[in-house]
Amino acid sequence: MTAANRVNLPAGLYFLATPIGTARDITLRALDILASADVLAAEDTRSLRKLMDIHGIALEGRTLLSYHDHNGEGQRPRLLRALEEGKSVAYASEAGTPLIADPGYQLGRVAADAGHLVTAAPGPSAVLTALAVSGLATDSFFFAGFAPNAKGARQSYLRGLAEVPGTLVFYESPNRVAKSLADMVEVFGPDREAVMARELTKKFEEVRRAPLSELAAEMAGRSLKGEVVLLVARGEKIEIDENALEEMLKSALRQGSVKDAVANVVEATGAKRREVYQMALKLGQQGG
Ligand code: SAM
Repeated sequence: MTAANRVNLPAGLYFLATPIGTARDITLRALDILASADVLAAEDTRSLRKLMDIHGIALEGRTLLSYHDHNGEGQRPRLLRALEEGKSVAYASEAGTPLIADPGYQLGRVAADAGHLVTAAPGPSAVLTALAVSGLATDSFFFAGFAPNAKGARQSYLRGLAEVPGTLVFYESPNRVAKSLADMVEVFGPDREAVMARELTKKFEEVRRAPLSELAAEMAGRSLKGEVVLLVARGEKIEIDENALEEMLKSALRQGSVKDAVANVVEATGAKRREVYQMALKLGQQGG
């Protein structure tokens, strides 16, 4: 018994999202593609076979190739050849959406450059799932992937993200969570809201929401297991009234060009560039 339909797939590369935990979090369309593609490729062929077994999809003599970071260079010509022969090729990474902190980028790139159809059956991804449950703003976010392992490199990576005007999302390994949070407190300060989302869609799903310093202290005392996403709210912009903004701008204009003064005030206050620029023009006309 399977929920999948055999369908006629046009030739092309199909990126399939697969579950990040619960096996039933796969779309019907992804199942159809798994049941129908001429060639299947997977980061982990055993995981894909298992998923296909759960959903009653047989390989039926089709090729199932392994494609991951360490054999990609050797495997790409094979997959491209299949595309050239007019075949449909489905690719799944081990979990979630391919290319999102997972292999697939170079495969998609060469297939697109060669003029083949590159398409996707969208579905689970830890970044969107974590954002959805975080309680943090989602209007603008930055996916920061895995931060570097070495402390110095990690801190400078974080410093580069301190001014990003959106929620930050990090993938993290469970035994590095406490160290990363400690670095985040150092770089972002103690007060930004933060979230630790663990084992999403699985039996022991856990979402902890607290200011960075509290979350860091809590996680320092725990030994975590499973898969983790860390999220950090965007930094607060300084609330500033119009008179103060004008005084700040006047002082900046005394020190440099209009362009530099506007840029500095915008960066310091988060005020809208257009408004600060208009104010600078008005001050200029008034003789400043
Ligand atoms: N391609 C996947 C996606 O679309 O989310 C991500 C693959 S990446 C190699 C694995 C990382 O994703 C984990 O270390 C963890 O940070 C995050 N992750 C994956 N599944 C998760 C889950 N169920 N709960 C929390 N984080 C998860």
